[in-house]
Amino acid sequence: MTGGASGIGRACVEAFHAAGARVGVLDLDPAGAPEDPRVHGVRADVADRASLTAAIASVAHAFGGVDILVNNAGISAVGEVEANDDAQWARVLDVNVTGVARATAVTLPYLRRSRAAAIVNISSIAAGAGLPKRALYSASKGAVHALTLAMAADLVGEGIRVNCVAPGTVDTPWVARLLANAADPQAEKRQLAARQPTGRLVTAQEVAEAVVYLASPTAGAVTGTSLAVDGGMSGLRLPAR
Ligand code: NAD
Repeated sequence: MTGGASGIGRACVEAFHAAGARVGVLDLDPAGAPEDPRVHGVRADVADRASLTAAIASVAHAFGGVDILVNNAGISAVGEVEANDDAQWARVLDVNVTGVARATAVTLPYLRRSRAAAIVNISSIAAGAGLPKRALYSASKGAVHALTLAMAADLVGEGIRVNCVAPGTVDTPWVARLLANAADPQAEKRQLAARQPTGRLVTAQEVAEAVVYLASPTAGAVTGTSLAVDGGMSGLRLPAR
């Protein structure tokens, strides 16, 4: 699990525990992972292949193998297409897109030894919704969708399933950081909630349950798909309120 020390990743750790799994947490700051004998926290940066290679080897050694990879680590970017400079484009794409490919590449040798291998990538509503002032972030998450499909096609013959979860706005420290910069954080939070037809933010636990489903043998016939956990935001066409 990349980025397993906070928000959606941390909720995934707990949901995997409830399903009986042990979890390796690969994070810039693994100290945020739950303190639990079923958790193996390792400092890793998805932008750094050497740290990922060492971290995955450490998890495989601790647990005797790796069956599931969740590519969850990601960073935010705000603004229209001209708002971010070349260094910001390079950095966000390196973490959000190449980071998924990199973590997958170093984990595949272990997944190939598993009889129940699955990969779940965390994309976003931003990949397909045309959200304003999210050009770079949306491009990065659109690429995660495309990469999910391409990897699913390449790995289906080896019995490795690849899917993604596309959350709407989820109540995590990430959103708290975004709101902290708003003129009126509470009003902004209400607006984010109202944008979703269910009228509330998604919880990290709701995203985590979808991740566990896609990773489990229950989803044995599911590969190359994107599961929206977005309060109906991407699918419903309701009259404006
Ligand atoms: P978060 O900021 O609460 O947690 C992100 C975690 O990733 C942190 O523990 C952080 O240390 C780790 N991380 C960041 N960069 C890393 C790197 N280079 N290497 C390793 N670890 C790194 O965020 P969150 O809201 O839980 O988001 C998790 C994922 O969900 C992200 O990919 C994000 O794009 C996606 N997402 C979030 C929302 C939302 O509204 N919160 C919506 C859609 C998609």
